[in-house]
Amino acid sequence: MRHISMQIGADRRPGTTTFESLDPYTGEPWATVAEATEADVDDAVRAARTAFETTWGPMPGRERGRLLRRLGELITENADELALAETRDNGKLLREMRGQVRSLPGWYEYYAGLADKIDGRVVDTGRPDYFGYVSREPVGVVGAIMPWNSPLLLLTFKLAPALAAGCTMVAKPSEQAPVSILLLAELFERAGFPPGVFNTVSGASREVGRWLVEHPDVDRVSFTGSETTGIAVARGAAGHFAPVTLELGGKSANIVFPDADLDAASNGLIAGIFAAAGQTCIAGSRALVHEDVYEEVLGRVAERAARIKLGDPQDPDTEMGPICFAGQLDKIRGFVAEAEDSGADIMTGGGDGGLGGLFFEPTIVANVTNDARVCQEEVFGPVLSVLKFRTEDEAVALANDSRFGLAAGVWTRDVQRTFRMTKRLRAGTIWINAYRTLNYSMPFGGIKASGFGRENGIEGLHEYLTDKAVWIETTGATRDPFVLG
Ligand code: NAD
Repeated sequence: MRHISMQIGADRRPGTTTFESLDPYTGEPWATVAEATEADVDDAVRAARTAFETTWGPMPGRERGRLLRRLGELITENADELALAETRDNGKLLREMRGQVRSLPGWYEYYAGLADKIDGRVVDTGRPDYFGYVSREPVGVVGAIMPWNSPLLLLTFKLAPALAAGCTMVAKPSEQAPVSILLLAELFERAGFPPGVFNTVSGASREVGRWLVEHPDVDRVSFTGSETTGIAVARGAAGHFAPVTLELGGKSANIVFPDADLDAASNGLIAGIFAAAGQTCIAGSRALVHEDVYEEVLGRVAERAARIKLGDPQDPDTEMGPICFAGQLDKIRGFVAEAEDSGADIMTGGGDGGLGGLFFEPTIVANVTNDARVCQEEVFGPVLSVLKFRTEDEAVALANDSRFGLAAGVWTRDVQRTFRMTKRLRAGTIWINAYRTLNYSMPFGGIKASGFGRENGIEGLHEYLTDKAVWIETTGATRDPFVLG
């Protein structure tokens, strides 16, 4: 079995103890992984601090950009190995993980282009005897905490802008899917980065993340994960006043109006919830369908859902792999059983598709109200709750009646309606006649319990910069020390 080490400064650390990463499809361990101690976390933060102060921070932006582009090239060269590591760790389709990994160089190229364009501005100080300017400075050492569902893509949302800004990073991958992020660290040395720019600490223990977040020398925390952990992370970072970015869960509405292209809309509902077996923060887990087309849309979605091919995530014909780990499967089963007990109809799915193991079929829950737990809590699995609406106002009210505010989809051919809906829906991303599309240039993030801060785009770069105001006295005069100014 392959052993995967952490990267701390110039050291590869195999860990004094280790843990196993299980392949969700086979149920067997496929790699052993280093378990970090608190001293490892401390060393990693120190290495990141040293690199920030001595090599990476002072490096000209153009040179940082050159290294980011080189990293992108090495990711392309190693894409198959990295993607396979993700599939073996989290059970998601190899073709999806490959697509994600192959898209990553786009992020490094985009932010490489911005690395030498981090300009400040000269300010009219309102005082002829002072020259003033604002410079945009890197925040310093970033602690990044990752979930298991798309490790490298979600890390890249943080890493590419942080490095472009001149920050250094210590990343803590999920205990469920640590390998690809640890392997990425090996590419940094090959690309020619100075040691300490990107460090990794892994562990089966959730304490590793806590040590990192609470470390007093971490200047900013960027977290992607669940709502409950997000609260713990925000509290831990508050202890030393580190600002946080929180990318949390969702309960996104995918809304179908009667004037929509029903083929496209039905396909969009399927993509929204059954792609990645629903293990995605942007899952369109609540379908809101107008009463005039409810039967037709539901019929189409149920028919396609029942035909989704479950199986080996490495097989190119498979459409849905297993659930990532047993605890997650139990949680999904619990939501569906509770909905059924409360009188909901399980239109399709609910079982393991005859495959056993960690499989769970695409499942559609109808005859529920929006206050049911399955409509309010994030299931993080292939479970679609379907609700009927009559008016646009009702659709908006249902969509917004959620703690979360990550994303929403709207299917309509009425151009005026698209403007009304995009304005009224409370979510960080709105897709019109589309679902589950992301790219480096469009800001991504949520509101309410889906978190705060933005990743990607220019906004994503700003998360890693802070403003410094500089006043320069130009006359040499001496002033009254007891008067402001
Ligand atoms: P999780 O919250 O259980 O764990 C996330 C990470 O936090 C893991 O690395 C874990 O070890 C670490 N952690 C646990 N306790 C910690 C603590 N006290 N301090 C610091 N770190 C700690 O989430 P998960 O199950 O790995 O991922 C699924 C969740 O992630 C879902 O809620 C999903 O919606 C969310 N997610 C959000 C986005 C987004 O961009 N908004 C993207 C993907 C996933």
